[in-house]
Amino acid sequence: MKTYAGLARLFPNSFPAKVFLIAFIGTHIPLIATVYFLLAERGGVMANLEICIVMLLATLIGTAATLYGLRAILQPLFFVRDAMEAFESRREKQDLPGQFNDEIGKIMAMTNRLIGDLDLDLRRKKSVANTDPLTGLLNRRGFDQSVPQAAVGAIIYVDLDHFKAVNDRFGHDVGDTVLRQAAQVLTAAVRTGDVLSRFGGEEFVIFLPGGDLLAAKAVAERARATLVAKVQVEGAAVTGSFGVAVTPAAGGDIAETIRQADTAVYAAKAQGRNRVTTSELAGAGMGAISGAQPAT
Ligand code: GH3
Ligand code: MG
Ligand code: MG
Repeated sequence: MKTYAGLARLFPNSFPAKVFLIAFIGTHIPLIATVYFLLAERGGVMANLEICIVMLLATLIGTAATLYGLRAILQPLFFVRDAMEAFESRREKQDLPGQFNDEIGKIMAMTNRLIGDLDLDLRRKKSVANTDPLTGLLNRRGFDQSVPQAAVGAIIYVDLDHFKAVNDRFGHDVGDTVLRQAAQVLTAAVRTGDVLSRFGGEEFVIFLPGGDLLAAKAVAERARATLVAKVQVEGAAVTGSFGVAVTPAAGGDIAETIRQADTAVYAAKAQGRNRVTTSELAGAGMGAISGAQPAT
């Protein structure tokens, strides 16, 4: 490391410069030896001008070819550096050639493997951190990461009705099964591109990108009806209260829209549950918009 450390003082930021300096010195030794010999033994440079010019030209060409070749052979080093930088700064995976067996070939193959493993590990951790283990839906954190604050669209807030009573009467495991079934119903009700999450407890939040109030009400109404039809505990239908709100068309404030949809849920609860209410109607106290029927 001594030579390296010494050269690092000369060229702190460039490894190729260190290699080039060594190559430069190496390629000039024949020229220096020749000039020294001519000076000492053959009456000086001017008396042997032809030899000197030939040596000088040969040295120049040799140096240029050596530096060019070194630059080319150092390419794998630049590739490794670029791949590490791309992953560290942008989490971008660049595949390095893996078929070479010398030292730098092994470094490339190892870099590939390490970046691949790390990438997989980070993806798994992220996915676990963003997923609700009970239902497999996104959790609140996953929702927040999937829906930008300024996104434009509609929010449907779902809160299962009297869910505590399900737990109390049938046990926590049955409650868990109901939550999983409700998640399936909601999954079937949304389209690809919609963001469905379990926000916590027995509450789900759906974001419909670009969705307007009418479309969101239709989705909510369909989900409400399917929930009643498909999710039952010992013959009694499980119902939910649905609140719908939309962001302003110019650009939304998702957190505020979720609050509005949540307020609409409270209105739905107050009006008897098992219904869809929009935030504007909730605010105006005009009642539910869906033709919800009490659960049977
Ligand atoms: P409301 O109609 O007013 O919404 O009444 P509710 O009983 O649904 O609402 P409340 O907030 O009183 O109760 C929610 C219950 O959800 C209480 C809690 O035990 C239950 N819960 C929350 N998370 C889970 C879970 O992961 N599994 C189960 N089985 N129950 C849960
Ligand atoms: Mg609740
Ligand atoms: Mg509830």
